[in-house]
Amino acid sequence: MDSLELTRCLLRFDTVNPPGDEAECAGFLAGVLEAAGLDCELAPFAPGRANLIARLSGTDSGLAPLVLTGHLDTVPLGDAAWARDPFAGEMESGRLYGRGASDMKSGVAAMACAAAAVSARGGLRRGLTLLFTGGEEVGCEGATHLCTAHAGRLGAASAMIVGEPTANLAVRGHKGALFARAIAKGVTAHSSTPERGVNAIYRAARGVRRVETLDLGPAHDAFMGPPTVNVGMIRGGLNANSVPDHAEFTIDVRSGPEPSQGDILDKLRRALGPEIDAAPYSTMPAVLTAEDDPFLRIVAARAGEANGRSAEGATAATFFSDASVFQPMFRCPTVILGPGEPATAHQTDEYCEIGKIGRAQAIYEAVIADWCG
Ligand SMILES: [Zn+2]
Repeated sequence: MDSLELTRCLLRFDTVNPPGDEAECAGFLAGVLEAAGLDCELAPFAPGRANLIARLSGTDSGLAPLVLTGHLDTVPLGDAAWARDPFAGEMESGRLYGRGASDMKSGVAAMACAAAAVSARGGLRRGLTLLFTGGEEVGCEGATHLCTAHAGRLGAASAMIVGEPTANLAVRGHKGALFARAIAKGVTAHSSTPERGVNAIYRAARGVRRVETLDLGPAHDAFMGPPTVNVGMIRGGLNANSVPDHAEFTIDVRSGPEPSQGDILDKLRRALGPEIDAAPYSTMPAVLTAEDDPFLRIVAARAGEANGRSAEGATAATFFSDASVFQPMFRCPTVILGPGEPATAHQTDEYCEIGKIGRAQAIYEAVIADWCG
């Protein structure tokens, strides 16, 4: 099966998260990889949900493997109607449509087919590990489970590629994310006597405005770009005729390694003042590999050959990935490269350009040959 056909097979599994339901898709992929000679292990992390670890051993067990990773879940379809069936793998005018076509079943399929091709050729000195996760789209659940419950079995990594959509450019990092919940407390009263209460919604509204106008400072480096902030959810109050005593909203800050997420949180709290209590509920660190890193050089060179252009001037991915969870454990150079179109990820009528799927497979195979051969 080629990488296009495999992508279409993966698209036919509904792995919209929530709820995810990736186990069936992971089991199918395990069957494909086992038939190609890889050792596969399903690692369930919830009912109907599983990660897949697939290994190809090298002849030199002293060398830490190369890790290729991707996620099997997708975001929901959204409210707008799709012009295409999101689960049928429809193709037209050089594009493959479907939920997850770009983010990132095409990347997973290209990685799996590259591993199968390398397995058929044999003779790797350094081993290869594929980590296909569930639950990435809701806080990297699957990867977190692998790093906590299966850390011993994951072993070491000498380098890692994350197949998130970059249109096959070698991207040497992505921003991290800090999610915080901001809570405003008040004192309830009848709405006809508001002067007897303290309105928590007014407090939250002032806080939202302070977040909107907060200056998080300039970009620490041109590659990462400046930090950004968004208020994505707000709720408060019980009914129209009470002064609300509770209101809350979420804050999502995306930033590079500097300033630290601790410093950002301090700044947020100072801006919000004593009326509001802000507490982080999820943090994903930024991922960054040095510009002169030898592994990055190899991936960039191979991608440049396949794409017919270099990735000069490429900036950090704004999304986070499972690398935020894996990288602090593996502490290895990490490159993001996948065939999907970053601009169509999470969109209605998501698509991937068909030509880029096979090209991604060729890049992965060339990198494996260089790094593991
Ligand atoms: Zn993704």
